[in-house]
Amino acid sequence: MRVFSAILPSGNLHIGNYIGAIKNWLELQNQYQCIFSIANYHAITVKQDPEILRQKSLEIAKIYLAAGIDPKKVIIFIQSHINEHTELAWILGTLATISELKRMTQFKEKSEQHKKNVNLGLFSYPVLQAADILLYQTEIVPVGEDQKQHIEFTADLAKKFNKLFGETFIIPKALIKEEGCRIMGLDNPLKKMSKSAKSPLNYLGLLDTSEEIRKKISKAVTDSGAEIKFSKDKPAIFNLLTIYQILSFQSKKEVEEKFKNSNYADFKKELTKIVLEFLEPLQERFYKIKDKEVYEILQDGANKAQGIARETMKKVKERVGFLTSL
Ligand code: ATP
Ligand code: MG
Repeated sequence: MRVFSAILPSGNLHIGNYIGAIKNWLELQNQYQCIFSIANYHAITVKQDPEILRQKSLEIAKIYLAAGIDPKKVIIFIQSHINEHTELAWILGTLATISELKRMTQFKEKSEQHKKNVNLGLFSYPVLQAADILLYQTEIVPVGEDQKQHIEFTADLAKKFNKLFGETFIIPKALIKEEGCRIMGLDNPLKKMSKSAKSPLNYLGLLDTSEEIRKKISKAVTDSGAEIKFSKDKPAIFNLLTIYQILSFQSKKEVEEKFKNSNYADFKKELTKIVLEFLEPLQERFYKIKDKEVYEILQDGANKAQGIARETMKKVKERVGFLTSL
């Protein structure tokens, strides 16, 4: 079974990316053939500074490693190193309809966020994502809840292609863990935590300093009332409790029991402690990783990914009726 997932080098990686995606990758890498990409083609669908984009791509690779992704077990590579991603996206684009793409929630949200740059790439983002996944004959796509719609779209596109041209692609499925699949913004618990959020107070960055973490948690919005409980009508505290629960490996019940006589200030202090206990060793490992080591891992990853991508693309071109090159 093959697993594929990716993260955009579009900003600072946050605790939502870790809990919703990377944490699950750590379990999967021991059981399946995993491919984890750094999706720079996707990142440029919103405006990026070229130098920062380059720097963030390397940073994400280092975070994968510091978090425990093992390059001996998995393939780590940069999306733009494999030409087949954009090549397959073009072909799949001819099967994707405008009305399907218009329904995509992420497109609607990002168009709203970047009103002056609603570009074609942003619109066809799910088609490129489908190409990423289908190129590697992926069965499992471990992602956060926000990506569910895109993975369903990918599966539909694969079925459509198979029906028209004959069995070519494996139909992928999203793997979304119930707990922590949608970590919300600290400044707005009704919207998901996001790398490209306007305010840094929205997210807990995996590379934030302890001072920043302290400040962000202390400024995190809370709900009315004083109870520290997992209650759907208290979205802010529900979210903070979820982060606490997952990072402390406890059940909801245990956490509620622990904080039943606490106030928000006490709870936030404990949450800060648990977040820092998680981040400090990760950051320590991160800062020890040398650029050269990462370049070698990315080169090796690209070589391995290339082999799989080429095979799929060859099949696709035959199926759609392209003359093979002489
Ligand atoms: P951007 O705002 O640039 O889209 P992002 O924070 O949404 O950034 P992505 O690179 O788009 O991050 O997503 C990487 C992975 O992290 C995906 O699997 C996505 O579903 C997951 N993810 C993103 N945000 C959250 C979140 N708030 N909670 C849980 N998982 C998340
Ligand atoms: Mg996103």
